[in-house]
Amino acid sequence: MARTHISGFPRIGAHRELKFAQESFWRGESDDAYLRGVGKELRARHWQLQRDAKLDFVTVGDFAWYDPMLNLSALLGALPSRFGFDPSNLSLAQYHELARGNKAQPAMEMTKWFDTNYHYLVPELDSETTFNGGVDWFFDEIDEALALDFAVKPVLIGPITYLWLSKSRVAGFDRLSLLPKLVIRYLRMLDTLKKRGIEWVQLDEPALCVDLEDDWIEAFSAVYNVLGDAGVKVLLATYFDTAAAHAPAVAKLPVHGVHIDLVKAPQQLEAWRSALGADKVLSVGVIDGRNIWRADLGEIVSSLESLHAERGERLWVAPSCSLVHVPVTLASEKRLDAELKSWLAFATEKLDEISTIALALRDPAAAEPALAAADSALDTRRASSGVFNVLVQRRVAAITDAMACRKSPFADRSRVQRHSLKLPLLPTTTIGSFPQTPAIRQARAAYRRGELRALEYLERMRAETATVVRKQEELGLDVLVHGEVERNDMVEFFADKLWGCALTENGWVQNYGSQCVKPPIIYGDIYRPEPMIVDAAGHAQSLTDRLIKGVLTGPVTMLEWSFVRDDQPRATTALQLALVIRDEVVDLEKAGIRIIQIDEPAFREGLPLHKADWSEYLDWATRAFRIAAGGVSDATQIHTHMCYSEFNDILPSIAALDADVITIETSRSSMELLDGFGEFAYPNGIGPGVYDTHSARVPSVDAMQRLLERACEVIPAERLWVNPDCGLKTRGWPETEAALTNMVSAAKTLRQKLAAQRTEASRIASVACRHAARSGAAR
Ligand code: GLN
Ligand code: ZN
Repeated sequence: MARTHISGFPRIGAHRELKFAQESFWRGESDDAYLRGVGKELRARHWQLQRDAKLDFVTVGDFAWYDPMLNLSALLGALPSRFGFDPSNLSLAQYHELARGNKAQPAMEMTKWFDTNYHYLVPELDSETTFNGGVDWFFDEIDEALALDFAVKPVLIGPITYLWLSKSRVAGFDRLSLLPKLVIRYLRMLDTLKKRGIEWVQLDEPALCVDLEDDWIEAFSAVYNVLGDAGVKVLLATYFDTAAAHAPAVAKLPVHGVHIDLVKAPQQLEAWRSALGADKVLSVGVIDGRNIWRADLGEIVSSLESLHAERGERLWVAPSCSLVHVPVTLASEKRLDAELKSWLAFATEKLDEISTIALALRDPAAAEPALAAADSALDTRRASSGVFNVLVQRRVAAITDAMACRKSPFADRSRVQRHSLKLPLLPTTTIGSFPQTPAIRQARAAYRRGELRALEYLERMRAETATVVRKQEELGLDVLVHGEVERNDMVEFFADKLWGCALTENGWVQNYGSQCVKPPIIYGDIYRPEPMIVDAAGHAQSLTDRLIKGVLTGPVTMLEWSFVRDDQPRATTALQLALVIRDEVVDLEKAGIRIIQIDEPAFREGLPLHKADWSEYLDWATRAFRIAAGGVSDATQIHTHMCYSEFNDILPSIAALDADVITIETSRSSMELLDGFGEFAYPNGIGPGVYDTHSARVPSVDAMQRLLERACEVIPAERLWVNPDCGLKTRGWPETEAALTNMVSAAKTLRQKLAAQRTEASRIASVACRHAARSGAAR
């Protein structure tokens, strides 16, 4: 009999209970006990859902106050020493200070969890790190679940993945040197589990799904040779891509089972099936943990029948990865179109899908009604996609290579633009958004609730825009923006205006900490019924003589930050998005907007985990961007914006986007990032961010000027722009005005300095010329 389990359940709660409890705790409006109570309630509720769905195990250890990697650091007692906290006595308040920083220390670094949009807190390790102290929350939670009589399968991130994702502040430090200590600690933890009567523990090692260096692969085998024998059965969990290359080695280890992701990498099944002895558990991740479509249960069941005959209860059925990447439940969606809703499964509904598969394998007749329901939903979905927008599909089919190219090469365009835009050297600009004040948020909420009429709302937004434009003029910025006042979220805002996309009411997914996003659902062909921001940008332009830069979200980012239909290649959906953005860009140009920024902050995150798959992605992603940008004349300047700090390995593709200007995040790496651009001889305009907009700190004129001078050493001043790292949406006005005042003044000072240097240089040159001419004449 196949068994059923999950890797993890969303912890935030169907109504973001955890978020609100955390935020009130941070504000000091509630205490430890209250926050702990909310956590306990959520865990019990989520375990109960797993039991209600008749899963064989409930998963414990997937809960975290802020982030599971941080919880693991807290459990191991491996805290950054700079905070000076006592690891065995860590309070909830201190735990959150690690995540958010405090007066004395900046927060621990946060970065993306593999190729997802979830962010984890990067462990900070050094040679002094020990794994001895730590909090007991993990074990307390297990006791909690045992007390409630659940069949508990604890889950922990494995030691290899933990180390691989960590960093050291000491250059050249070999993290693997910590492995022996770490393994001893894991052994102790497994022993504690054994004493509690735990049969199975899941150790997550998604690091096996990336291109791992040899020393890490060797370390991996050594570790699991030890951990596999600790007296608790180990289920080694891989996900996000194939781990097939490791199947032969893993089969020889004393681990008792392996979980594999068959949604992302179905082709790996055969490798595991033949390598892994029939006495071992094979857990198949057949339900998509990262997307929200109802699965084709009938097909999954038939694909598993022979495997089930082979392995019986040693076949486990599960989602591909943790369900934290999907919303909690469809039950909270009251306004979603009924037919679309019938095509979907969020985390709670996926639990039922899992148990239906197991039931169908065991007792096909009993599963019949559930399978039939799934089937009919799929039938309507297939039938509808047949009649979607023929118009859109024809346009995609008619895309030509010429559409992916600007009319002239950058050198020619930039000459035309210099002539027509008449910008000073080192032009100053911002990334798009300005502070979203309480007044703006309130107006938006009132409009959503139907308390503000459309026209009243529009008037308020226009008034806000007018304020933002005036402030930018006063600050002396060269290229202004309309401030994105009407945008709640840069993806949701556009998805709301496009056909083929749907928004949920409560489809929240944790992005990091208490921060959640509501990814739109791209369910059909994308059509733009009318212009999206032309009115707002045109209005802003009518208020000022300076140039307004129109800002919109690019096709790759729209795709990456949405739940995307799975019935056609992502590349095709990207092209559909590219076409509507292209139309918008052309309409903006027609409306007199001469600088247009197409944001692609998610461009890098679409990269596959295995380098071998990169070029395919980069090809279609680059093409999508170029099509979005390619409809305008040479005189229109196209910008793009990206905000992360790893560009070096994809610089050729960044250059291939052929944006006239790219603005990037660089201030936190004090411009080091730019060296890569310099070495690669990045050909186009570039605006390296001169200050970090993620913090309220106001950098001095001097500090920014120094950064700019560094930038000038790498990139010719003619191609340099001056701007912050990212948008200013989450900032307040006082620090925004102060920082931008300093930024503008840094740019002006440097501009004068450069002008003076140039006058001096040309004076010397002309003296030299005269001299040469004279001596030439004398000869
Ligand atoms: N234009 C967006 C803004 O300024 C860009 C946001 C982003 O890069 N994440 O808010
Ligand atoms: Zn950004």
